[in-house]
Amino acid sequence: MMAIGLDVGGTKVLGVAVDPRHPGTVLAERRVPTPEGGDGLVDTLLELAGSLDPKPTAIGVGVPGLVDRAGTLHMGPHLRRMHDVPLARLLADRAGVPTVVDNDANCHAVAEQADGAAVGASEALVVTLGTGIGAGIITSGLLLRGANGFAGEPGHMVVDPNGPPCPCGKRGCWERFASGTGLGRLARDAAAAGRLDAAVALAGGDAEAVRGEHVTAAARAGDPESQAVIDSLAHWIALGLANLVNVLDPAVIVIGGGLVGAADLFLPEVRNRFARLVMAGDQRPEVPIVAAELGERAGAIGAALMAAAG
Ligand SMILES: [Zn+2]
Repeated sequence: MMAIGLDVGGTKVLGVAVDPRHPGTVLAERRVPTPEGGDGLVDTLLELAGSLDPKPTAIGVGVPGLVDRAGTLHMGPHLRRMHDVPLARLLADRAGVPTVVDNDANCHAVAEQADGAAVGASEALVVTLGTGIGAGIITSGLLLRGANGFAGEPGHMVVDPNGPPCPCGKRGCWERFASGTGLGRLARDAAAAGRLDAAVALAGGDAEAVRGEHVTAAARAGDPESQAVIDSLAHWIALGLANLVNVLDPAVIVIGGGLVGAADLFLPEVRNRFARLVMAGDQRPEVPIVAAELGERAGAIGAALMAAAG
């Protein structure tokens, strides 16, 4: 009685097999490179699912982009040459079992609600900070879908109309500042201004080569300039979260995605700044901002759960 969950990323697809009754326990797991283009993707997904379980009960797929209610991927800013791919239909035709295709951050939210940091919450905001930013919004216990299935893309809220260009085609989107990509950009700006010597040293002395991991490593070693860059990342994260909380009023905010490994470095400052940025921060119940519990497998686990639930 295993369901397969597949989480499509910009560079790799992570597949897991889970028993939906015990979603926190992954029974099998495998990663393969993400192919270019929609046709190759269907082959890759079916092959990966088959290698995890030749006879799964259901297959769920999480994709970083706009997925409509019929499971068609309209576009993903970080997926090359994949537009208007009717993924759910293509998979169902060939898999012979129920298939579900949904936005990857929605899958994260479902997993964290089932067996992670949002268990029991009927109003929750799950935000994934990775290459970009995704979100799954749970309201009245259910995912908020919107008219087309496109709800929950706060990464493309514009926070600076004159800001840097975004792969979505606009400028100054929240994910240009508050994601792993954003941290790298903030770091290179600081390095170019001569303020980040310890992280530049970790990058081999090349200010242009500084990435987020160099900054987090230097901050962990106690470098105050690197921590200052992370505090500036925390400001941008808190700004977006405050805007979202003003609209959605969640009981809890769960932070997942690739940056969660550095949550200990930025979450305390995110909480400080959030309290000052949200409307009436000192007059409303505290909104806990916590790290996701299911790690990098959350998206794949959630996709499996969605498929098993039909
Ligand atoms: Zn954008």
